[in-house]
Amino acid sequence: MLSVIIPSYNEEGNVEKTASVVGKLLRENGIDYELVFVNDGSSDRTWELISGLAVSDSRITAVNFSRNFGKESAIFAGLEVAAGEACVLLDCDLQFPPEVIVEMYRIWEQGGVDIVEGRKNSRGKENPLYKMFSLFFYKLIGRSSGLDMQAASDFKLLDRSAVDALNKMPERLTFFRAMSSWIGFNTERVYFDVADREIGESKWSLKSLVRFAVNNITSFTSAPLHIVTVFGVITFIISLILGIDTLYNKFWGNSEAGFPTVIILQLLTSSIIMFSLGIIGYYISKIYEEIKRRPRYIIREIVKKDDLNQGESNGK
Ligand code: UDP
Ligand code: MG
Repeated sequence: MLSVIIPSYNEEGNVEKTASVVGKLLRENGIDYELVFVNDGSSDRTWELISGLAVSDSRITAVNFSRNFGKESAIFAGLEVAAGEACVLLDCDLQFPPEVIVEMYRIWEQGGVDIVEGRKNSRGKENPLYKMFSLFFYKLIGRSSGLDMQAASDFKLLDRSAVDALNKMPERLTFFRAMSSWIGFNTERVYFDVADREIGESKWSLKSLVRFAVNNITSFTSAPLHIVTVFGVITFIISLILGIDTLYNKFWGNSEAGFPTVIILQLLTSSIIMFSLGIIGYYISKIYEEIKRRPRYIIREIVKKDDLNQGESNGK
């Protein structure tokens, strides 16, 4: 069976369409499936709709979070709840073309491939600033972690063995896209074009994107710490030159001329110390967050038809 995991946050306009489109497609292709909708603390009617779907269709499972935990948490909740031999992640807005699921499934079905990775041909409609920013972000992560992240997406099909490996990873601050590459396994790629979102708006604000990038950079690489070291070396060289210059002025020149040097040195070092402390502080806050061992998410309820029937028969 194939589990399709669909994180949904304020997607009242999309859930029903997504459920019927994906369900129809998989039935037509003779693929046994289940749909796992994870309601990520929506403030609209999303939960009402998906729990309704779960009651009427035994192939649909609806998971409800107690609040908005973010897409990452929704993905990992879906992976934990999913029962299929393979799981595929899908956005509720159908920006990932569902037909590609069938293509991925066929590759997986033949055996030998554990992960089928969807890679973006084009990134769809995006603002140029966002494009530049994401290019830089994935370059930095890619360079420092050795994972090729440039055209990566959350659209991936994972074999049960890969899902179990991910479920075992203990960290709280997850980054599905990178973690699912990090675990290794035989990976094959399929390419797709990102469609435009038809209903509703993108759930990402500039602020949430910056937070997402900074979070993932600090939880996936320690590159910023190395930048601090490089800065340290550079400052050291500069202070050496300025130090010699100051001494030269003191003995053979006008000692008053040394004042600017002192000021420059002070400014330089103090600013770099500040900067370094900032970065170190950030990592400490990560350690703090991880050490709390909080759950990644809290599920308020799960609606599944099988469970409902069982509950009824048990009650009788
Ligand atoms: N999403 C979520 N929790 C959030 C934000 C988004 O579960 O806090 C889901 C959303 O419902 C959608 C998917 O993640 O199914 C992708 O979100 P969106 O389309 O807003 O992102 P974009 O396509 O703009 O990157
Ligand atoms: Mg989208």
